[in-house]
Parts: sequence; structure tokens; C-alpha cells
Amino acid sequence: MQNLWSDEEAKAFKTDLEMRVYTSNLLGRSDELVLHGGGNTSVKTVTNGEDILLVKGSGWNLVDIKAEGFAPVKMKTLLEMAELKELSDSDMVSGQKAAMIDKSAPNPSVEAILHAIIPFKVVDHTHADAIVTMSNSVTGLQNIQKVFPNFLIIPYIMPGFILASKINEMIQGLDWSTCEGMILHNHGIFTFDDDAKKSYDKMIHAVTLAEDFLRENAAIIFDELTPKVFDVKKINIDAFMHINQTPLALHYASKDNLSAFATRGVLTPEHIIRTKRVPLILENENVEDALIAYEKEYIKYFEAFSKDEIMLHPKPKYAVIKDFGVVSFGKTQKEADVINDVVSHTMLAVLRADKLGGYTSISLKNSFEMEYWELEQAKLKK
Ligand SMILES: [Zn+2]
Repeated sequence: MQNLWSDEEAKAFKTDLEMRVYTSNLLGRSDELVLHGGGNTSVKTVTNGEDILLVKGSGWNLVDIKAEGFAPVKMKTLLEMAELKELSDSDMVSGQKAAMIDKSAPNPSVEAILHAIIPFKVVDHTHADAIVTMSNSVTGLQNIQKVFPNFLIIPYIMPGFILASKINEMIQGLDWSTCEGMILHNHGIFTFDDDAKKSYDKMIHAVTLAEDFLRENAAIIFDELTPKVFDVKKINIDAFMHINQTPLALHYASKDNLSAFATRGVLTPEHIIRTKRVPLILENENVEDALIAYEKEYIKYFEAFSKDEIMLHPKPKYAVIKDFGVVSFGKTQKEADVINDVVSHTMLAVLRADKLGGYTSISLKNSFEMEYWELEQAKLKK
């Protein structure tokens, strides 16, 4: 993939924070690295003699984050938190807020502790398509070990405190001089360095290795297809729609047995907030019947895992319509467009992962934990 660093542009940025803003924006410019609020970045610095982690604030997108989008949190507090045996995610968030030296800054990313325990000045985290495509396949672990022998590989753990805590355990005694980065199974990738450009270069290099692997082992050629006629107005879900009939969407929707093929889960956990775990599938059935069946299935999933959560609306966020394409639904056009972006990246990953032996995502239980995570719920309300 393209390295977007420009010496000319970089000249304008002097301080740690300015440089952090610049390479965060560079990461954000590549859709194949992060989409709509995905990923996070940080830089460790010293303010008034105190070690501070400047970490992406929630609600900001890497592509247009500015200096005020970074939350300044005391390193000491974060490192202490990493050593705790137990900590709820809401206590983590309030503890981090209390440790901010500027209370008007946004809430720090839920990955702040993880950024703090990585002993390098600059830390970059993305959900790079090529990495999660490799990782979300049945041969994922072995392929990743082969392509990334010097990376620390972390099995899937829900983001937040338990992930940071588990990684804190795994890095005890780690020789960082030979560690080129971290791959979080079914989630994404971290690179780090004491230099912002080098950390960015490492991200681009690693993702390029994954892209090369996919080009060799998982090339997709789209069939030339003409969409069938279908009246999307029959699906009455939200006020706005995004109809996708690109060669990718048509190819995807032409697959046999869509109810098994197109329902294998999200590409990276936070996508579930936007897309739900599975779409509505319309092969030949009546739209009404399919919607009723979808809701029934969703309620079954909710009841299987819920304790005291309140159920979200059991309606699909998008539909895969046999030989027609993919339709995303939103309360606004922007929401429908965002879902379409996320689904587009997922479709290509599914097709490619199938070439690697089969696409596979996190379990139903892990999906539920993410979909009903109190912190993600809070994000949505914004
Ligand atoms: Zn992430």
C-alpha cells in the first residue's frame, strides 16, 4: 500500500503533538487502514515534569483529528491501572478521566492503557483490511505467524481493560528490540517506535506484506453480472438507504446459499455497532416473512447471552439480496453510507478469506459482548 508521508508536509510540524496529528491524519487517509472512527494513536510526552500519554479522544476520526482531539492522561495512573486484577470498563473510563490534566479534552480512547504499556513514544493502531482478512480466516494464525515472525500475536480478547491487562501479562520479559509490532487476532494491528515517521512506516510495511500475501493467495476476479430487478421500497426499515450494485456487491450477492455465506460475522469487533452481526438475507422469500424471521433470530441471540441489558431494535442494518446487490439502511443518509462502507470492506475480506480456507469471525458470545458493551452504547448515543 501507498506510504503517504511527505517531507514537504512534515516540515510544518514541530512538537510531539503536531507530529502525532500529522501521522494520525496520514493513517486516516487510507480507507484500507481505518474506517469511520476506527483505530487509535498516541504519543508519550512530558508536561510540567510529568509523563503524559496523549491519546486519541473518542468521537474523533483519525483522518481529521486535530491537536484538541487528543486526551492528555497521566502515564502513572494508566500504568497503575494495567496492574490491577480487576477493573470494570466504566471504572476504567472514569479513572482515566480523573487522570486527565485538561478536563476539557475529550474522553481518552478505551485502548489508552494498552497504549501506555507499550514502551515506545509513538503507538499506532489500525484495523487494516489486509491484516484482519488474513486473521479472519481458518488458516489465519498459521499464515500470520509465517508472514509476521517477529510480531507478538494476541488471541482475540474483547477490547478494553481485559485486553490491556492480558497484553500487560504477555509482555513481561519481552525483548522489545526484536518485536516489530502486535497483531490482535480478529481485530487489528499495532506498530510503535520512538519516531512518528518510523512507526507509520512500520504500519505501511506490515500491511503491504499482508496485501502481498493476499494478492498471491487470495486473488478475486469479479464475474460480469447484471442485477435482477427488485423493488427496494418493499423493505421498509429506515428512512434512508444506500443501494450498492458495484461489481463487488453483485459478485457477493450472486453466491449460493447466502443465508450461510453472508452471515459469518464482522471483520473487526467495533463494526458490530454499525452493521449488527448479520444482515437480512433475501433469496426468494417474501420480504415480510424474511423480516419476521430476522427479528425472531435476533431475539433468540439476545436471550441466549443477555443478563440485564436492554435489547437494541431487532431490525437489520443492511440486506444482501440475491442477484441484486446490497442495501444499507440508516436514520440518515450518512448512516446508510457509513454502513455501506463498512459492509463493502467486509465483503471483499470474506471473499478473500474464503480463498484462504474459509472466513471466520469472533464467536456469537464475543459478538454479543461487543454489541452490548456499555462503552460502545455510550459512543452510539453521541
Ligand atoms: Zn481496535
